[in-house]
Amino acid sequence: MKIDFNGYNDGANAATELVNTSPRVRSRGEALPDVAALTEFFAALGIDRTVGADDLQPVHALRDEVRAALESDEDDLARRATAFVARAGRGPGLHRDVDGHWRWHVETSPDATADDALAVLIGTGLLGALYTLGHDRFRHCTAPDCAGMFVDTSRAGRRRYCMPEVCGNRLKVAKHRARQRDRT
Ligand SMILES: [Zn+2]
Repeated sequence: MKIDFNGYNDGANAATELVNTSPRVRSRGEALPDVAALTEFFAALGIDRTVGADDLQPVHALRDEVRAALESDEDDLARRATAFVARAGRGPGLHRDVDGHWRWHVETSPDATADDALAVLIGTGLLGALYTLGHDRFRHCTAPDCAGMFVDTSRAGRRRYCMPEVCGNRLKVAKHRARQRDRT
């Protein structure tokens, strides 16, 4: 099976997305509780693979491993991400798309499990982000009371939140409440 992507951003962003589905981060609890949610998650990442109930626990376990990688020091991160790639990888490689532009791909063996396929994509992304952007792009969310983490793949490198649409808003609400408190 071939997983097609534009560059390390895709895998690095997949790492961010995966880590922040955890009940440890989400106030509403587990964001990957069942096969439907997992199917949607894989489709959103562009991994064309059928997932089943047997894949849930291994993906949750991979999530803990990816979190540990994001929290690791530079050398340990490189070691862990390399191990992710090795789980089912035959790549990475380059091929041309229909317009003749280069695209990355990683290949997994046909019998690779869903979590192995995800590990290969994420591992490739983490290595690319570490090599190109540096270790200070692996960060904790700065929103109050948020346990989220992210890989900042933005050009400027000024990202602050694990889920900008949720955590940026959370901060605004907290500031608003503080202002109201000051007034009364
Ligand atoms: Zn956050």
